[in-house]
Amino acid sequence: MTENGDSTTRPIISVENLVVAYDRTEETVRAVDGVDLKIEPETIVGLIGPNGAGKTTLLKTLLGLVSPTGGYVRVDGADVAEHPHRAHATMAAMLEGARSTYWRLTVRENLEFFSRINAAGRGDERDRIREVIDRLNLDDLSEEVVNDLSRGQKQRVSLAVALVQDTEILFLDEPTLGLDTAASLDLQASLVELAEQQGMTIVLSSHDLDAIESVCHRGVVLDDGHIVADDDVENLVDVFRTEVYELVVEGQLPPAARSEIDRTYDLVSCTELRDRTTLEVAVPDAGRIHELTGTVVAHGSQIESVRTLEGSLEPVLDSLSFERSEPLERRPLRGAP
Ligand code: ATP
Repeated sequence: MTENGDSTTRPIISVENLVVAYDRTEETVRAVDGVDLKIEPETIVGLIGPNGAGKTTLLKTLLGLVSPTGGYVRVDGADVAEHPHRAHATMAAMLEGARSTYWRLTVRENLEFFSRINAAGRGDERDRIREVIDRLNLDDLSEEVVNDLSRGQKQRVSLAVALVQDTEILFLDEPTLGLDTAASLDLQASLVELAEQQGMTIVLSSHDLDAIESVCHRGVVLDDGHIVADDDVENLVDVFRTEVYELVVEGQLPPAARSEIDRTYDLVSCTELRDRTTLEVAVPDAGRIHELTGTVVAHGSQIESVRTLEGSLEPVLDSLSFERSEPLERRPLRGAP
């Protein structure tokens, strides 16, 4: 706490009114469209969203690889566009699809190379490389040529190359993509350890919602370049756990009932069989389930059963595929300024 009782921490990453537009032949695409984001040190933030939501563009802009069309990104107080070298000293990245390692060199040679060019003067190089090799269980692989490794092993080497740069911030684009379950869990455990033991700030994008739920403190949901939800991952899951209901109704649902439900709630799916109709409906507030069942009954239908569907982050993404009358509530991280 500060002297005036303020328990908030200075953000290590500040993004204000960020716009990134790509010019295409026929149109301009606003991949990031007015994003505001503050990230406190030592947190792990997960960027979630459907394909094309703007996650990779946002990560690349945070890294200074893509220039903002509007707004700014400050990393550790430095404007990334104006002072790229200062900002780069504090961050490393593992971008999916990017060849962040030299495949003809051994694991150790890669670590030495990247440590020398990006972390010269930061402590003893040999100690740092040793520590990274131990942390990511690369001991048996350290003299292997990267090209000969499996995909999961290459992924671990890419992470090691990012870590050996000894920065405070790590950006990861789809870190668990293509990994088998065991390799993915190993990587997730390493990330949690890095934030807890080394005080790293990690921003990762992923479609792997299990990984987001088990690793991240905070989830930021992007859709069409906008942030549509931002909260502790636990709260995001909680919100959606109570939200999606399955209603089984006898016979066919009258069209008027269906359109009222569609207008008032989020009708996720409606499956009509001859003798029953199954609806999945996202209800914005658990208390309103009674209104929903009331609507069905008021239209003369009999309800056979109602149950909540198991909570997970999936509905967050699913709901983004359906038109909504208003965006999901944007909630600040607890304790955020
Ligand atoms: P995915 O989950 O599929 O990786 P994403 O959330 O990372 O998607 P982006 O890759 O940031 O989304 O893309 C956001 C939008 O910007 C998309 O409409 C995409 O087609 C467009 N886009 C991305 N990169 C470029 C580029 N270099 N030139 C033109 N348009 C681009």
